[in-house]
Formats: sequence, C-alpha cells, structure tokens
Amino acid sequence: MEATREIYWNVGHGLLVLVPMYLLTLAAVAVLVNELMRRIEVYKRGRPLNRTDDLGGRIADLARGALLQTRVLRVKGPGTAHGLFFWGFLLLFIGTCLIVVQADFTDPVFGIKFLKGTFYKIFSVVLDLAGLLATVMLGGLLVRRYLIRPEGLESKKDDAAMHGVLFAILISGFVIEGARMAVTELGTPLAAWSPVGLIFAKAMAGMGEESLRSLHSTTWWLHLFLVMAFIVLIPLTKFRHILTTSANYLFADRGPKGALTTIDLEDEERETFGAAQISDLTWKDIFDTDACTQCKRCQDRCPAHTTDKPLSPMKVVNQIGEVAFNAPEANLVETISKDALWSCTTCRACQEICPATIEHVNKIVEMRRNMVLMEGEFPGEEVMAAADNTEVNGNPLGLAFASRGDWAKDTSARLMAEDADVDILYFVGCYASFDRRNIMVAKSFLKICDAAGIKVGILGAEEKCCGEPVRKMGNEYLYQSLAPWPRTIATSALTWKPSITRYFCTAWS
Ligand code: SF4
Ligand code: SF4
Repeated sequence: MEATREIYWNVGHGLLVLVPMYLLTLAAVAVLVNELMRRIEVYKRGRPLNRTDDLGGRIADLARGALLQTRVLRVKGPGTAHGLFFWGFLLLFIGTCLIVVQADFTDPVFGIKFLKGTFYKIFSVVLDLAGLLATVMLGGLLVRRYLIRPEGLESKKDDAAMHGVLFAILISGFVIEGARMAVTELGTPLAAWSPVGLIFAKAMAGMGEESLRSLHSTTWWLHLFLVMAFIVLIPLTKFRHILTTSANYLFADRGPKGALTTIDLEDEERETFGAAQISDLTWKDIFDTDACTQCKRCQDRCPAHTTDKPLSPMKVVNQIGEVAFNAPEANLVETISKDALWSCTTCRACQEICPATIEHVNKIVEMRRNMVLMEGEFPGEEVMAAADNTEVNGNPLGLAFASRGDWAKDTSARLMAEDADVDILYFVGCYASFDRRNIMVAKSFLKICDAAGIKVGILGAEEKCCGEPVRKMGNEYLYQSLAPWPRTIATSALTWKPSITRYFCTAWS
C-alpha cells in the first residue's frame, strides 16, 4: 500500500469543519491586519526617511537575517536556541501549508495528491523532527527565562502568553498525531517515519479507539483555536517581532557604520533641531521600537550600563516606543532622562550586537542635539569647557594651538608648510597631538612609516579638531563649523603635492 494518510482524518472534510475553520482564519487575519494598520499610522508620526534604496541588497539582508538568522545566532546559547526553534517552527508552518494546499485545493480541484509515497515519508519524518526540535528549544528558552532568570531579562505577560501558546501548539500537535497513529498506523511500517508521533501513539495505545477519536477531535479543534490565538497575538504582543524584526533587516541603515545624520542648519523653515517630541524622530526610529524583542543583548554590551551609569539602550528604545504608542505628546528627553542620554559613549556596541538591527545611537544623538542646540544644555562644566576650548583653541584640552606640532619635533615628520615633498599627509588629531600616551601612538605610526620608506607630512599648528567629539555630544553647529577641515586638508594636500592621494588620521583609525 502506498505511504500516505487521510487528511482531516476523524474530523471530517465537510462544510461543518471547513466553514468555521476558514471563518476563524479570516477573523484572525482581519485582527492582525487591522492592528498592523493601526501601528503603521503611529510609525507615520515620524519624519520621512528613505530606506528603500538598493532593494536587491536589502532583500538579501532580509533573507540572511530572517531565514538564516545570522544576527540572532551571533550569541551562543539563547541565540542558537532561538535559531533552531525558528527553523523547526518554520518547517511545521510549511508542512501545514502543504497539507492545506493538497486537501483544499489540488485534490478537490485537480484530483492531485502529492503527499504520498517517498515524499510523504520524508515529509513525515522531517515534520516530526522539526516539531521535536522546536519543542526542545522552546523548553530550553522557558527554563532560561523562568528558572535561570538572567539578570535584566524581564518577563512580562507578553512572554508568558507567547511561550504558553507556542508550547500548547507544539504539544497539541503531537497529541493529535499520536491519537491518529494509535488508531491507524500503529504496527505498520509507516509508523517508523513519524518517530515522535510513534512515542505518543504507543503511550496512548491502551485508551481504546472511541476515546482516541474523541481525544483527537477535541485536540484538533483546540489546536486550531491555539493557532488562531497565535495569529491574533502577533500584533498585540512581542510576537510582532516575527514581522517587524524581519522587516527591520530590509530597512536597516546601509550607510557607513557610525555615520550620524547631518542637520541642514541653513534650512530657514526649521524651527527646532534634534528630537524632543516623537514627531522629531524618523518613522524608522519608531518602527525600531516595535522590532525590539527586549532580549537585553544591547544592555549587556553597553559599557555605560555595565559600569552602573543610568543608561540601558534597551530601555531607551522601549521608552521611545511607549511615548510613540501611548503618550505622543510626552517629552522624550524628560521621559528617558538627561542623565541616561548623557551617559552614552556612542561606541555602537549596542547596535553591533542587536539581532534586530536597531539603531540606538542616532536616536540618542538626536535627543542630545535638542538639549544642546535648543536648550543650551551640557552634561557638566567640563564638557562645556571642552566645547569652548575646541571652538577657541581648535582642541578640547584648551592647549595652545601653536604647540600642536611640538610632539613631532624629534621625529621624521615634516611640516607641510615647510616641506610638502611627502608621500602621505597625516591628520594627527587632538589627543595624538597633546596627550602623552596618544603621542606614543603617533610616534609609533611614524616609525612604521620610516621603516616602510614612506615620507610623512603633518600640518602642525595649521591642524585643528575635526569636530567629531562635539558632534557626538550633540553640538552639530560647532561640528559643522569644524568639519570642513579634514576635507580642506585633503584638497590642500593635492595642491601642495598632487601625488598625495591619501591622508591618515589617528583619531579615525
Ligand atoms: S534593542 Fe536590540 S539588542 Fe536591545 S533588547 Fe531590543 S532587540 Fe535586543
Ligand atoms: S552606543 Fe551608547 S547606548 Fe550603545 S552600547 Fe555604547 S554607550 Fe551604550
């Protein structure tokens, strides 16, 4: 006899089953779409931002991130468990779709049954093992969340609902399979192709056919309701990350790492700078908050958080989401707190590790810009003095700009103003010019160049701060007045000696 099974065994395939089944599905999908549309309206409160360029590259990133789980797998343990669970559940989803396609489309319309023979055996064993994998991984994640309870991993109602529904779906699936197999397959060679179902079938074998049929149909309907509950819960709980985190791979920033957005300070129509209201952020900043799974990886890697500063990048993202969805008039800076915003070092460790490609730094810098440019605030007098020094002396340390090249007096570096016959122009930067430890780095660099026979030129007193530190503090105005410098240097270098095609900066290295 050909290997196959009766789809809708015991529950029937008539209108009494199909009508409620499809109506329930329709209702669940309607809730899903309606709630997603409501959330899209909230994303639209943000400023426009183009994230649809290089669509091919974006689609490749989506495939890598969502299907291959590349970013999730970067963290061993929970990341691996999530990836394996995802693949197991995905296979079950594909298998369920194939069953529906055959039972309700290809068979009744064309008389084609493809779930048979060798394909059915492979289908059976793959789905069985996928279900087992998903169940074991979910079990592991449950133990981690509720028994091990890693510090900082908060478990909310959302988590209980999500884990509960998923676990119930998986276990009820095996009960349905076991009950069916106990009646129809036990003792046949086909049973070996469903190894997990076989264990359930053997455990239930003593129940008698009538009880098994009754258990099967009750669990079948329960399983259906659970799947519908899962669909409804997607937009209402953290389940939404299935869609939003995946979409975030598509919308991720594809520019140079760490590049901050530039404010058009000449724009006369602009009344405010930086972000104090949710409408000052972009739609992507709001969307990010929906893509966050609260996995706390960013928090664990944040040097500010791990040294007890009042900053958690995860909390910042979640607080922006709270404001966007529940209190759109609230002041972002006050909600998050100035102390938290000033605590960020802009190191990007949070962004590097985030499995959902959430962009924390731009959000924080936007709120700092509002504090600095609109409120004239700085985190302390030292920082204000550093900004003043940068403006007046061209370095945040307040040291005489004329002594900037003194460190190089006993080295092979040539001052460009005196001798432009060099191979590269070295933009030294403030700390490598004035700070003793950093000067050692600059000198080591020159030694390497000497050994390689490369002639190096420096600007000395003509060089000044590139403005990056004040920019990260939120002072975009001062940054933009300093930023043209490196470009000017490059241009000048070409004028002095057209063969100079490269310049090097300690601060950027
Ligand atoms: S921002 Fe990213 S890393 Fe941080 S909790 Fe959310 S998903 Fe995890
Ligand atoms: S960029 Fe800021 S928030 Fe992110 S890890 Fe570094 S210090 Fe923490």
